[in-house]
Amino acid sequence: MSPSPLRRYLEFYRDLGCGNIYVRRPAPPAPPADEHASAPVELPPRAPAGETLEVIRHDLGECTRCRLHQGRRKIVFGSGNAGAKLVFVGEGPGADEDAQGLPFVGRAGQLLTQMIEGTARKEGIPLLREDVYICNVVKCRPPENRTPMADEIEICGQFLFRQLLAIRPRAICVLGSTAAKALLESKDGVTKLRGHWHKWRDIPVIVTYHPAYLLRAYNVTPKREAWEDLKKVLHFVYD
Ligand code: URA
Repeated sequence: MSPSPLRRYLEFYRDLGCGNIYVRRPAPPAPPADEHASAPVELPPRAPAGETLEVIRHDLGECTRCRLHQGRRKIVFGSGNAGAKLVFVGEGPGADEDAQGLPFVGRAGQLLTQMIEGTARKEGIPLLREDVYICNVVKCRPPENRTPMADEIEICGQFLFRQLLAIRPRAICVLGSTAAKALLESKDGVTKLRGHWHKWRDIPVIVTYHPAYLLRAYNVTPKREAWEDLKKVLHFVYD
């Protein structure tokens, strides 16, 4: 295993609270088809026993792991149903979220609530915002609402991954390109990624536009596309 996946693997266990890792003596390996090809690193699909959102929030603590803590007022961990079938993942808190400690409560958040509840109502699905779970890639507001940096995403992303593993939703709806990069490790933008299914571990993922982008979008196409994406994921999860 090359150093980079090995590091991610070890960090994953460190953030789960595992202090010691034991190496099982390997069985004699079968001769590789291509001796230079390294096997893909499969991280465990399930959260360890006892992993809950409360435990993860406790481990996060009054986090100072990255520079974002310097300017924050409140950590925005996430909100909603801990047993949700659908999780929405945004980028990071803005000013309103930082003040209240809750995700998506500003203008973009109000639009997200309307999108979730309005689309569900039109499609005959009884669903309120409180039935889903909403969180972000980074839990502290970046200064001037800048895009989170790669190291901030990597550090805070460990907690997002644990949240997703603890909730184990039927699907994840990714809002915008930062969350898409964090979960799908793809350099493609939303326009390319939206409209079809992806996977994070074994959980189906839909990518759509960030509501803040929809507030600024001049033409109706992205709004119509976001509505189609939402319809697709809602029917997949709740039909
Ligand atoms: N934008 C985000 O990505 N997340 C929030 O919580 C609010 C705005």
